[in-house]
Amino acid sequence: MAKTYDYLFKLLLIGDSGVGKTCVLFRFSEDAFNSTFISTIGIDFKIRTIELDGKRIKLQIWGIMLVYDITNEKSFDNIRNWIRNIEEHASADVEKMILGNKCDVNDRRQVSKERGEKLALDYGIKFMETSAKANINVENAFFTLARDIKAKMDKKLEGNSPQGSNQGVKITPDQQKRSSFFRCVLL
Ligand code: GDP
Ligand code: MG
Repeated sequence: MAKTYDYLFKLLLIGDSGVGKTCVLFRFSEDAFNSTFISTIGIDFKIRTIELDGKRIKLQIWGIMLVYDITNEKSFDNIRNWIRNIEEHASADVEKMILGNKCDVNDRRQVSKERGEKLALDYGIKFMETSAKANINVENAFFTLARDIKAKMDKKLEGNSPQGSNQGVKITPDQQKRSSFFRCVLL
């Protein structure tokens, strides 16, 4: 069967419950906002194909967006824990990005943009404030992550490594570890 894309990137959205992961994903894949999602137990999984540098890139959810809610201090503090969790269960060089979601709600803001930037800088990860509701930076965030994964993949392919096309999250082969990772992380 003919391939309908040039690359397949799999991205994950990770973060505390209620920060807006499902809404960000829905905004990106359907360009819509729905305030009545029931909190998901399981994986937020959507597919959208984008075009980048003339190549079709199929995005599945499997590469890492760390999401916190700018109106929820605790969700911001927990980003460090999520990163530790990822470091334990995925390969260290998996592309990551931190999103401070709900930036449309400035009057209830608990986390300044500067603190978000500082945290991202500490880990050498890119950062953006987003709003799934007001459609701010969602498209930009996914394209930026896709671009960075593609650049890393192209660099690996240049190096002619036989594993070059295998870029992505390397989950530990330990089945038990893997299933507990899914159970705990993807809400
Ligand atoms: P999840 O548990 O991380 O998947 O969070 P949801 O996507 O289910 O969103 C949790 C709540 O936050 C819902 O009531 C959404 O309507 C709300 N929400 C999500 N994104 C935004 C946003 O960008 N701005 C505002 N104001 N609310 C949002
Ligand atoms: Mg959800």
